Amino acid sequence: MAHTLTPDRLIFRVAISVPVYRLFDYLAPSNITLEDCKPGVRLEVPFGKGRKIAFLLEVTQHSELETSKLKQVLRILDDKPLLSAKDIRLLHWSSRYYHHPLGEVFSTAFPADLRQGKPIALTTEKCYSLTDLGKGLDSAELQRSPKQKNTLEKFQAHPTYLSEADLSAWNDNWRPAVKQLVSKQLLQLDLKPLKQTAPTTLLRNPALHCNPAQQLAIDTVSTNLGQFGVFLLEGVTGSGKTEVYLQIINAVLKRGQQVLVLVPEITLTPQLEERFKQRFAVNVGLFHSKLTDNQRQNAWLDMQRGDCSILLGTRSALFTPLQNPGLIILDEEHDSSFKQQEGFRFSARDIAVVRGKLLHIPVLLGSATPSLESLHNVDKQRYQLLHLPDRAGIAVAPTLQLMDIRNKRVQEGLSETLIQEIQKTLAKNEQVLLFLNRRGFAPTLICYSCGWVARCQRCDANLVIHFDKQSLRCHHCGQEQILIKTCPACKVDELMPLGLGTERIEKVLNERFNDKVIVRLDRDSTQRKGSLEDYLQQINQGNVDIILGTQMLSKGHHFPNVTLVAIIDVDSGLFSIDFHASEKMAQMIVQVSGRAGRAEKPGNVIMQTRQPEHPLLTTLIREGYRSFAKTVLAERKAASLPPFSYQALMRVQTSDNNNSTFFFQAVAILVQKLNTGQTQVLGPVSAPMARRAGLYRYQLLFQSNKRQELHILLNSLIPEIAKLKQAKKVRWSLDVDPVDLY
Ligand code: ADP
Ligand code: ZN
Ligand code: ZN
Repeated sequence: MAHTLTPDRLIFRVAISVPVYRLFDYLAPSNITLEDCKPGVRLEVPFGKGRKIAFLLEVTQHSELETSKLKQVLRILDDKPLLSAKDIRLLHWSSRYYHHPLGEVFSTAFPADLRQGKPIALTTEKCYSLTDLGKGLDSAELQRSPKQKNTLEKFQAHPTYLSEADLSAWNDNWRPAVKQLVSKQLLQLDLKPLKQTAPTTLLRNPALHCNPAQQLAIDTVSTNLGQFGVFLLEGVTGSGKTEVYLQIINAVLKRGQQVLVLVPEITLTPQLEERFKQRFAVNVGLFHSKLTDNQRQNAWLDMQRGDCSILLGTRSALFTPLQNPGLIILDEEHDSSFKQQEGFRFSARDIAVVRGKLLHIPVLLGSATPSLESLHNVDKQRYQLLHLPDRAGIAVAPTLQLMDIRNKRVQEGLSETLIQEIQKTLAKNEQVLLFLNRRGFAPTLICYSCGWVARCQRCDANLVIHFDKQSLRCHHCGQEQILIKTCPACKVDELMPLGLGTERIEKVLNERFNDKVIVRLDRDSTQRKGSLEDYLQQINQGNVDIILGTQMLSKGHHFPNVTLVAIIDVDSGLFSIDFHASEKMAQMIVQVSGRAGRAEKPGNVIMQTRQPEHPLLTTLIREGYRSFAKTVLAERKAASLPPFSYQALMRVQTSDNNNSTFFFQAVAILVQKLNTGQTQVLGPVSAPMARRAGLYRYQLLFQSNKRQELHILLNSLIPEIAKLKQAKKVRWSLDVDPVDLY
């Protein structure tokens, strides 16, 4: 398009990271050539009273505004775009699909410093090269020191230079010999800009010998490299999925291509990083929120330049540009952490698939408990299923059993039978894992005399008792107050905790098993940096007898010596008003079960329930996750729920209910005008939690049997809503394909 333009009176159409649904026009800077006008470069522009960073999207000669009213771009920040044309297309697609302002979507794709307009630092690295003396020396003269001889020969085979990274890839212990060669003036040290070389694909450790199911999965994906395809690798914990990833990654590296690996949780990155580094001698980059801005930017640029072969990260790593993309892997694809829940509410899984399609590369999704959407896509033959039915090596699958606790003696959540099972396991010197997905001591403080309940003043929620801190805390807005002893309503000292939290279970365990080491893992106990890692290490060294925790435990960690897993309250997932709850419950049960009996010792899983006949529970236990998924998918189909229909949820918050009333009235008029009748609009209704942090909350649900119809409506509706004056007085957001209806 640019070649039809002349450099005078050019107009730059740009995206700016502000919450508005339109682009901005600026006059191009003076004295530029068309060469300077590359979509995707960053710009600095005047905006309001200040300046902002903008992304150039289009160069044109026409603006809807009068040219005399346009301001001029201040600076062009990049010589060339940091994102490829395809990645820019991906951002456009994401903005359209999630109905989120393009400027904010662009911002999401960049690490903080670049987003704020900082120049790309030219990163240097330490490199060694031969001196003239070193070039001329016959290595045989170093006969007496085989390491130095070896090292000199390595350099003589690479006469330009070798970076520290190259040397580490070659030999973990290269430093002493290099140091000595430097002191003998055979080698010299220089700082060089990071190299743009293709990654070396040296294997550090050999691959394992795979079972036939693993081999089939590896071969299927490996023969599809260089083209788009989505593969769903379904395999229980311990079935060898990671080994499959490693061998496919090896095939990608051999082609000189890069791999993007996404995991749901930061805590899962160290163990995976370790396995990558043990296997491959290539650079492995990390990208997640616990790193510094600088570290993230370096990892991002390394991938962009092709200096790094594997990037391991969380959802936020999804948009990292790849110099030479080969494969995208999403591990634990069912995990709802892949969905961003605020701001730009995107699904990293779904965008990964779109990205794979744009880049013509395969996307590999792995899980022991695939999401119902992905299983549905397998049914529709959009994804190809790869199944690992057995545990790899010698480990056997755990047995699952329901423990009916109706009319049983239960002490603070633990039935006598369960306590006996715990004793038996401990007597064999094996570890026990107890799961309860609620932190704190108890979710309710109630007065036995008058029925008063401690409520949050700003939310429709009870305050949770935290005995450790002697406080009452709201888990929704964070409000905290001192734990009271006397009922404020009737002034009687009859306040009692009701319900169970991990602190409370910990207390009983300490009483019943006072000679055992008990570790509690939840958000409260692992707040200190590094504490989770410390606990995990203690557990794996066998210094812990009982591990108690929340969903933190259900994710990926390996506890080889655990042989008994108990789910203390399995019923809590059965009666939610959110239709996603039963799927999440089943995934949680299977994931937690997967922690047991990883090594040669078989595991046993006990679930305490008051609903032993519940069909979903019994299907899951007797027939497994797949049958369960089939049953739930049939229910969803009958009820026209996703994935058989498509939803978008509009959430509205306001401190004044009049404002929401006016807003919804205005929205209703727009909907009436724009809806073609193919999309149902349900609501507005109060959100399940009608008040939170002092704000009233409402929801409006859009649902259609045709994805396209839903988006046609939203395409015209959302920009109109954004322009409403009534929209300025409420906080509203749109969540496309919501995974959480709260
Ligand atoms: P997952 O990722 O499915 O939990 P892993 O790949 O971590 O499974 O494998 C679980 C364990 O089994 C690991 O200790 C791994 O080294 C081992 N393993 C995997 N594949 C094989 C194999 N083919 N032969 C022997 N051991 C294997
Ligand atoms: Zn009272
Ligand atoms: Zn609150």
